[in-house]
Amino acid sequence: MGFLIYFPETHSAMLGATRMATDLIPEANALGYSPEICSYLTADIGAFVKGVTPLSKIYNIDSIPKPDVLVYNTNQCRDVQDWFKWYGEKFNAPLVGVYTHRNIGDVTEAHIASIAKQMEAMIEPLEKVSGEKFELDKLKEVIRLSRDCSDIWKKILDTAAATPSPLTFFDGTTLMGPAVVGRGTQKTLDVYEILLAELEERIKTGEGAVEGEQHRIYWDGMPVWGRLSMHSKMFSALKTNVLASTYCNSWIFSALDPEDPFHSMAKAYTELFIVRSDEAKEKYIKEMLEFFKVDGVVYHDAKTCPNNTNCRYGMAERLSEVTGIPSLTIHGDLNDLRMLSDEQTKTNVEAFIEQLEES
Ligand code: SF4
Repeated sequence: MGFLIYFPETHSAMLGATRMATDLIPEANALGYSPEICSYLTADIGAFVKGVTPLSKIYNIDSIPKPDVLVYNTNQCRDVQDWFKWYGEKFNAPLVGVYTHRNIGDVTEAHIASIAKQMEAMIEPLEKVSGEKFELDKLKEVIRLSRDCSDIWKKILDTAAATPSPLTFFDGTTLMGPAVVGRGTQKTLDVYEILLAELEERIKTGEGAVEGEQHRIYWDGMPVWGRLSMHSKMFSALKTNVLASTYCNSWIFSALDPEDPFHSMAKAYTELFIVRSDEAKEKYIKEMLEFFKVDGVVYHDAKTCPNNTNCRYGMAERLSEVTGIPSLTIHGDLNDLRMLSDEQTKTNVEAFIEQLEES
Protein backbone atom coordinates (compact mmCIF):
# COMPACT_ATOMS: atom_id res chain seq x y z
CA MET A 1 0.00 0.00 0.00
CA GLY A 2 3.01 2.26 -0.36
CA PHE A 3 3.83 2.75 3.32
CA LEU A 4 7.38 3.48 4.41
CA ILE A 5 8.02 1.58 7.63
CA TYR A 6 9.69 3.08 10.68
CA PHE A 7 10.39 0.97 13.77
CA PRO A 8 10.54 2.77 17.14
CA GLU A 9 12.21 -0.31 18.68
CA THR A 10 15.12 0.00 16.27
CA HIS A 11 15.38 3.71 17.01
CA SER A 12 15.55 2.92 20.69
CA ALA A 13 18.22 0.27 20.17
CA MET A 14 20.21 3.03 18.45
CA LEU A 15 19.65 5.26 21.49
CA GLY A 16 21.07 2.42 23.57
CA ALA A 17 24.03 1.68 21.33
CA THR A 18 24.96 5.38 21.18
CA ARG A 19 24.63 5.51 24.99
CA MET A 20 22.08 8.33 24.76
CA ALA A 21 19.29 6.26 26.34
CA THR A 22 20.15 6.48 30.06
CA ASP A 23 19.90 10.27 30.14
CA LEU A 24 16.61 10.29 28.21
CA ILE A 25 14.69 7.75 30.31
CA PRO A 26 13.89 10.25 33.14
CA GLU A 27 12.00 12.43 30.62
CA ALA A 28 9.47 9.62 30.12
CA ASN A 29 9.47 8.83 33.83
CA ALA A 30 8.30 12.41 34.42
CA LEU A 31 5.28 11.68 32.17
CA GLY A 32 4.29 8.74 34.35
CA TYR A 33 6.10 5.90 32.56
CA SER A 34 7.86 3.97 35.31
CA PRO A 35 11.65 3.39 35.28
CA GLU A 36 10.74 -0.30 35.79
CA ILE A 37 8.99 -0.69 32.39
CA CYS A 38 10.61 -1.21 28.99
CA SER A 39 13.61 1.08 28.60
CA TYR A 40 13.09 1.03 24.84
CA LEU A 41 9.79 2.77 25.45
CA THR A 42 11.09 5.22 28.03
CA ALA A 43 14.28 6.10 26.10
CA ASP A 44 12.39 6.60 22.84
CA ILE A 45 9.62 8.76 24.30
CA GLY A 46 12.32 10.63 26.24
CA ALA A 47 14.19 11.30 22.98
CA PHE A 48 11.03 12.64 21.36
CA VAL A 49 10.26 14.91 24.32
CA LYS A 50 13.82 16.24 24.32
CA GLY A 51 13.87 16.55 20.53
CA VAL A 52 17.02 14.48 20.01
CA THR A 53 17.78 11.49 17.81
CA PRO A 54 20.90 9.73 16.52
CA LEU A 55 19.17 9.82 13.11
CA SER A 56 19.99 13.51 12.76
CA LYS A 57 23.69 12.70 12.35
CA ILE A 58 23.04 10.06 9.69
CA TYR A 59 19.97 11.33 7.83
CA ASN A 60 20.04 14.97 8.76
CA ILE A 61 16.50 14.89 10.14
CA ASP A 62 15.54 16.79 13.29
CA SER A 63 13.20 14.41 14.99
CA ILE A 64 11.33 11.15 14.95
CA PRO A 65 9.25 11.16 11.72
CA LYS A 66 5.52 11.85 11.94
CA PRO A 67 3.54 8.64 11.35
CA ASP A 68 0.33 8.43 9.26
CA VAL A 69 -0.65 5.28 11.13
CA LEU A 70 0.77 3.15 13.95
CA VAL A 71 0.64 -0.63 13.78
CA TYR A 72 1.54 -2.82 16.75
CA ASN A 73 1.55 -6.45 17.73
CA THR A 74 1.41 -7.51 21.38
CA ASN A 75 3.44 -10.65 20.71
CA GLN A 76 6.46 -9.17 22.48
CA CYS A 77 4.68 -7.38 25.29
CA ARG A 78 2.04 -4.77 26.12
CA ASP A 79 4.72 -2.08 26.18
CA VAL A 80 4.74 -1.71 22.39
CA GLN A 81 0.99 -1.06 22.43
CA ASP A 82 1.26 1.63 25.12
CA TRP A 83 4.27 3.17 23.44
CA PHE A 84 2.53 3.43 20.04
CA LYS A 85 -0.64 4.72 21.70
CA TRP A 86 1.39 7.60 23.10
CA TYR A 87 2.63 8.53 19.60
CA GLY A 88 -0.87 8.03 18.18
CA GLU A 89 -2.20 10.66 20.58
CA LYS A 90 0.76 12.96 20.05
CA PHE A 91 0.38 12.93 16.25
CA ASN A 92 -3.35 12.38 16.14
CA ALA A 93 -2.68 9.28 14.02
CA PRO A 94 -4.82 6.12 13.97
CA LEU A 95 -3.64 3.04 15.84
CA VAL A 96 -4.29 -0.55 14.75
CA GLY A 97 -2.96 -3.74 16.25
CA VAL A 98 -2.87 -7.47 16.57
CA TYR A 99 -3.42 -9.20 19.92
CA THR A 100 -1.31 -12.31 20.20
CA HIS A 101 -1.54 -15.46 22.28
CA ARG A 102 1.24 -15.83 24.82
CA ASN A 103 2.88 -18.74 26.62
CA ILE A 104 2.00 -21.15 23.78
CA GLY A 105 3.03 -24.80 23.97
CA ASP A 106 2.00 -26.43 20.70
CA VAL A 107 0.98 -23.96 18.00
CA THR A 108 -2.51 -24.96 16.82
CA GLU A 109 -4.69 -24.07 13.83
CA ALA A 110 -6.95 -22.11 16.19
CA HIS A 111 -4.03 -19.89 17.30
CA ILE A 112 -2.99 -19.27 13.71
CA ALA A 113 -6.48 -18.61 12.37
CA SER A 114 -7.23 -16.00 15.01
CA ILE A 115 -4.04 -14.07 14.23
CA ALA A 116 -4.53 -14.35 10.46
CA LYS A 117 -8.05 -12.91 10.81
CA GLN A 118 -6.79 -9.95 12.80
CA MET A 119 -4.17 -9.26 10.14
CA GLU A 120 -6.73 -9.37 7.35
CA ALA A 121 -8.96 -7.04 9.34
CA MET A 122 -6.23 -4.38 9.20
CA ILE A 123 -6.54 -4.05 5.42
CA GLU A 124 -9.56 -1.79 5.51
CA PRO A 125 -8.26 0.81 7.99
CA LEU A 126 -4.87 0.81 6.26
CA GLU A 127 -6.48 1.36 2.84
CA LYS A 128 -8.30 4.34 4.31
CA VAL A 129 -5.03 5.87 5.51
CA SER A 130 -3.00 5.19 2.37
CA GLY A 131 -5.77 5.87 -0.13
CA GLU A 132 -4.52 2.84 -2.08
CA LYS A 133 -6.17 -0.51 -2.69
CA PHE A 134 -4.57 -3.57 -1.11
CA GLU A 135 -3.05 -5.86 -3.75
CA LEU A 136 -2.56 -9.49 -2.84
CA ASP A 137 0.15 -10.02 -5.46
CA LYS A 138 2.26 -7.24 -4.01
CA LEU A 139 1.97 -8.80 -0.56
CA LYS A 140 2.97 -12.20 -1.97
CA GLU A 141 6.09 -10.66 -3.48
CA VAL A 142 7.04 -9.05 -0.16
CA ILE A 143 6.48 -12.36 1.63
CA ARG A 144 8.68 -14.11 -0.93
CA LEU A 145 11.49 -11.61 -0.35
CA SER A 146 10.97 -11.84 3.42
CA ARG A 147 11.18 -15.63 3.33
CA ASP A 148 14.38 -15.40 1.27
CA CYS A 149 15.73 -12.95 3.84
CA SER A 150 14.82 -15.33 6.66
CA ASP A 151 16.54 -18.24 4.89
CA ILE A 152 19.77 -16.38 4.21
CA TRP A 153 19.84 -14.82 7.69
CA LYS A 154 19.52 -18.34 9.13
CA LYS A 155 22.42 -19.52 6.95
CA ILE A 156 24.50 -16.57 8.18
CA LEU A 157 23.81 -17.32 11.84
CA ASP A 158 24.35 -21.04 11.31
CA THR A 159 27.94 -20.39 10.15
CA ALA A 160 28.69 -19.90 13.85
CA ALA A 161 28.41 -23.70 14.25
CA ALA A 162 31.83 -24.00 12.58
CA THR A 163 34.90 -24.38 14.78
CA PRO A 164 36.28 -21.80 15.15
CA SER A 165 33.18 -19.70 14.63
CA PRO A 166 33.58 -16.92 12.04
CA LEU A 167 30.90 -14.85 13.78
CA THR A 168 30.06 -13.50 17.23
CA PHE A 169 26.72 -12.66 18.81
CA PHE A 170 27.92 -9.07 19.09
CA ASP A 171 28.49 -8.95 15.31
CA GLY A 172 25.04 -10.47 14.86
CA THR A 173 23.27 -7.74 16.83
CA THR A 174 24.35 -5.12 14.31
CA LEU A 175 24.42 -7.31 11.20
CA MET A 176 20.79 -8.22 11.82
CA GLY A 177 19.79 -4.60 11.01
CA PRO A 178 18.77 -5.37 7.39
CA ALA A 179 16.70 -8.40 8.49
CA VAL A 180 14.89 -6.23 11.04
CA VAL A 181 14.12 -3.12 9.00
CA GLY A 182 14.77 -4.18 5.40
CA ARG A 183 13.04 -7.53 5.34
CA GLY A 184 11.00 -7.81 2.13
CA THR A 185 13.48 -5.90 -0.05
CA GLN A 186 15.97 -7.14 -2.65
CA LYS A 187 18.65 -4.81 -1.25
CA THR A 188 18.76 -6.78 2.00
CA LEU A 189 19.26 -10.04 0.13
CA ASP A 190 22.12 -8.48 -1.88
CA VAL A 191 23.86 -7.36 1.32
CA TYR A 192 23.43 -10.73 2.99
CA GLU A 193 24.78 -12.63 -0.01
CA ILE A 194 28.05 -10.70 0.33
CA LEU A 195 28.14 -11.33 4.07
CA LEU A 196 27.44 -15.06 3.74
CA ALA A 197 30.17 -15.46 1.11
CA GLU A 198 32.65 -13.75 3.44
CA LEU A 199 31.71 -15.97 6.38
CA GLU A 200 31.95 -19.12 4.26
CA GLU A 201 35.39 -18.01 3.09
CA ARG A 202 36.45 -17.55 6.71
CA ILE A 203 35.27 -21.07 7.53
CA LYS A 204 37.33 -22.43 4.62
CA THR A 205 40.46 -20.66 5.82
CA GLY A 206 39.81 -21.46 9.49
CA GLU A 207 39.63 -17.79 10.46
CA GLY A 208 37.70 -17.44 13.71
CA ALA A 209 36.05 -14.24 14.95
CA VAL A 210 37.88 -14.73 18.27
CA GLU A 211 41.58 -15.50 18.03
CA GLY A 212 42.44 -18.81 19.66
CA GLU A 213 38.77 -19.66 20.43
CA GLN A 214 38.68 -21.94 23.46
CA HIS A 215 35.14 -21.58 24.77
CA ARG A 216 31.82 -21.30 22.99
CA ILE A 217 28.94 -19.49 24.67
CA TYR A 218 25.22 -19.16 23.91
CA TRP A 219 23.59 -15.84 24.92
CA ASP A 220 19.98 -15.76 25.98
CA GLY A 221 18.13 -12.45 26.32
CA MET A 222 18.63 -8.94 25.02
CA PRO A 223 22.05 -7.47 24.35
CA VAL A 224 23.20 -4.58 26.54
CA TRP A 225 23.24 -2.11 23.67
CA GLY A 226 25.50 0.41 25.37
CA ARG A 227 28.08 -2.27 26.16
CA LEU A 228 28.34 -4.21 22.87
CA SER A 229 31.94 -3.26 22.30
CA MET A 230 32.96 -3.71 25.93
CA HIS A 231 31.34 -7.13 26.21
CA SER A 232 32.73 -8.26 22.89
CA LYS A 233 36.28 -7.30 23.95
CA MET A 234 35.85 -8.79 27.42
CA PHE A 235 34.90 -12.25 26.10
CA SER A 236 37.42 -12.09 23.29
CA ALA A 237 40.24 -11.40 25.78
CA LEU A 238 39.21 -14.59 27.57
CA LYS A 239 39.45 -16.52 24.25
CA THR A 240 35.73 -17.04 24.50
CA ASN A 241 33.28 -16.60 21.66
CA VAL A 242 29.68 -15.73 22.45
CA LEU A 243 28.60 -17.08 19.11
CA ALA A 244 24.88 -17.74 19.07
CA SER A 245 21.76 -16.35 20.67
CA THR A 246 18.02 -16.56 20.93
CA TYR A 247 17.86 -12.85 20.16
CA CYS A 248 19.46 -12.81 16.69
CA ASN A 249 17.51 -15.95 15.75
CA SER A 250 14.26 -14.04 16.35
CA TRP A 251 14.41 -12.79 12.76
CA ILE A 252 14.18 -16.25 11.28
CA PHE A 253 10.62 -16.85 9.99
CA SER A 254 10.79 -20.21 8.25
CA ALA A 255 7.00 -20.58 8.08
CA LEU A 256 6.56 -17.66 5.64
CA ASP A 257 4.99 -18.87 2.40
CA PRO A 258 4.23 -16.44 -0.46
CA GLU A 259 1.39 -18.67 -1.67
CA ASP A 260 -0.39 -18.46 1.67
CA PRO A 261 0.49 -15.00 2.97
CA PHE A 262 -1.86 -14.33 5.91
CA HIS A 263 -1.90 -17.85 7.31
CA SER A 264 1.86 -18.22 6.98
CA MET A 265 2.57 -14.81 8.55
CA ALA A 266 0.31 -15.74 11.44
CA LYS A 267 2.10 -19.08 11.80
CA ALA A 268 5.55 -17.48 11.67
CA TYR A 269 4.68 -14.89 14.31
CA THR A 270 2.95 -17.46 16.53
CA GLU A 271 5.90 -19.84 16.42
CA LEU A 272 8.22 -17.06 17.63
CA PHE A 273 10.31 -17.92 20.68
CA ILE A 274 9.08 -14.98 22.75
CA VAL A 275 5.42 -16.08 22.74
CA ARG A 276 6.12 -19.71 23.64
CA SER A 277 5.83 -21.63 26.89
CA ASP A 278 8.91 -22.43 28.97
CA GLU A 279 8.76 -26.07 27.81
CA ALA A 280 8.86 -25.02 24.14
CA LYS A 281 11.62 -22.49 24.84
CA GLU A 282 13.74 -25.05 26.68
CA LYS A 283 13.39 -27.57 23.87
CA TYR A 284 14.50 -24.91 21.39
CA ILE A 285 17.51 -23.75 23.44
CA LYS A 286 18.59 -27.34 24.03
CA GLU A 287 18.67 -27.91 20.25
CA MET A 288 20.64 -24.70 19.77
CA LEU A 289 23.24 -25.70 22.38
CA GLU A 290 23.83 -28.98 20.56
CA PHE A 291 23.88 -27.44 17.09
CA PHE A 292 26.36 -24.70 18.01
CA LYS A 293 28.52 -27.04 20.17
CA VAL A 294 28.31 -24.72 23.11
CA ASP A 295 30.05 -25.22 26.46
CA GLY A 296 28.39 -22.47 28.50
CA VAL A 297 25.26 -20.29 28.54
CA VAL A 298 24.98 -16.65 29.59
CA TYR A 299 21.50 -15.42 30.54
CA HIS A 300 20.98 -11.68 30.54
CA ASP A 301 18.42 -10.73 33.16
CA ALA A 302 17.33 -7.39 31.70
CA LYS A 303 15.74 -5.37 34.45
CA THR A 304 13.14 -3.60 32.29
CA CYS A 305 12.34 -6.45 29.89
CA PRO A 306 10.85 -9.47 31.62
CA ASN A 307 9.57 -10.58 28.20
CA ASN A 308 13.01 -11.25 26.80
CA THR A 309 14.41 -12.53 30.11
CA ASN A 310 14.09 -16.27 30.52
CA CYS A 311 16.04 -17.02 33.67
CA ARG A 312 13.61 -15.86 36.35
CA TYR A 313 11.58 -19.06 36.71
CA GLY A 314 14.22 -21.78 36.97
CA MET A 315 14.93 -22.29 33.25
CA ALA A 316 18.71 -21.92 33.61
CA GLU A 317 18.84 -24.61 36.30
CA ARG A 318 16.50 -26.98 34.46
CA LEU A 319 18.50 -26.71 31.24
CA SER A 320 21.82 -27.15 33.02
CA GLU A 321 20.51 -30.29 34.63
CA VAL A 322 19.44 -31.93 31.36
CA THR A 323 22.39 -30.77 29.22
CA GLY A 324 25.20 -30.69 31.79
CA ILE A 325 26.14 -27.27 30.37
CA PRO A 326 26.78 -24.64 33.07
CA SER A 327 25.30 -21.17 32.94
CA LEU A 328 25.85 -17.68 34.30
CA THR A 329 23.21 -14.99 34.81
CA ILE A 330 24.29 -11.40 34.39
CA HIS A 331 22.09 -8.61 35.68
CA GLY A 332 21.72 -5.58 33.48
CA ASP A 333 19.43 -3.94 31.01
CA LEU A 334 19.04 -3.37 27.28
CA ASN A 335 19.18 0.43 27.48
CA ASP A 336 19.33 1.68 31.06
CA LEU A 337 22.99 1.58 32.03
CA ARG A 338 22.16 2.47 35.64
CA MET A 339 20.89 -1.10 36.01
CA LEU A 340 24.28 -2.76 35.60
CA SER A 341 27.64 -2.90 37.25
CA ASP A 342 30.50 -3.35 34.77
CA GLU A 343 32.82 -4.48 37.55
CA GLN A 344 30.39 -7.10 38.78
CA THR A 345 29.77 -8.38 35.25
CA LYS A 346 33.50 -8.65 34.57
CA THR A 347 34.19 -10.47 37.84
CA ASN A 348 31.33 -12.92 37.26
CA VAL A 349 32.27 -13.60 33.64
CA GLU A 350 35.93 -14.20 34.54
CA ALA A 351 34.93 -16.61 37.31
CA PHE A 352 32.57 -18.42 34.92
CA ILE A 353 35.25 -18.88 32.25
CA GLU A 354 37.65 -20.14 34.93
CA GLN A 355 34.99 -22.68 35.90
CA LEU A 356 34.73 -23.78 32.25
CA GLU A 357 38.48 -24.15 32.08
CA GLU A 358 38.51 -26.42 35.11
CA SER A 359 35.68 -28.64 33.85
S1 SF4 B 1 10.02 -7.13 24.39
FE1 SF4 B 1 11.13 -6.06 26.00
S2 SF4 B 1 12.49 -4.63 24.96
FE2 SF4 B 1 10.96 -5.31 23.46
S3 SF4 B 1 9.40 -3.72 23.55
FE3 SF4 B 1 8.77 -5.37 24.97
S4 SF4 B 1 9.58 -4.82 27.00
FE4 SF4 B 1 10.59 -3.55 25.44
